Amino acid sequence: MKPERVPGRYIREEDLRRLPGVIEYTPTARYSYSAGQALSEFLRGLKDGRILGKLCPSCRRVLVPPRVYCEFCFTPTTEWVEVTGAGRVETAVTSYIGAARERLEKPEIIGVIRLDAPGHAENSFDFAGLFHKLCGVTEDDVKSGRVIGMRVKPRWKPVHERMGSILDIECFEPLQPREVV
Ligand SMILES: [Zn+2]
Repeated sequence: MKPERVPGRYIREEDLRRLPGVIEYTPTARYSYSAGQALSEFLRGLKDGRILGKLCPSCRRVLVPPRVYCEFCFTPTTEWVEVTGAGRVETAVTSYIGAARERLEKPEIIGVIRLDAPGHAENSFDFAGLFHKLCGVTEDDVKSGRVIGMRVKPRWKPVHERMGSILDIECFEPLQPREVV
């Protein structure tokens, strides 16, 4: 929507600076974050181009992203299982806001990918999934609903650019016709 069609007016930075009690300072806060046992291994796997999950020995579901305990059975998960990364798009949106909350001129398509992982019932709300960018699909694919159910696979960044981050996967892209992953 164009700004002039929105009732009221946008707050400008100078309006905020004029408010009483506003003090300007540069924050110097530093923090560290521990990803934990399961997620750390998951992130290391991404650096190697592998998507790892953990198997629940009780319900036999493979949890991706991995967790130390199964949230259904409260059972400690046991072995690591690699999944292919192929899956299908569960839902998707067109976003004009980037990951750092910046406004995007060219929108991104963001989706939830239901990964092919053992133990999950088809079409249930319980699935192994990742939230990620989709490439090779258009805004029109989202609007028309064509993107829903589309088979996709991860497009990995080159090895030297990977950092042990979910962004080591550049995006998920559609499988080619008859492509088997
Ligand atoms: Zn379980």
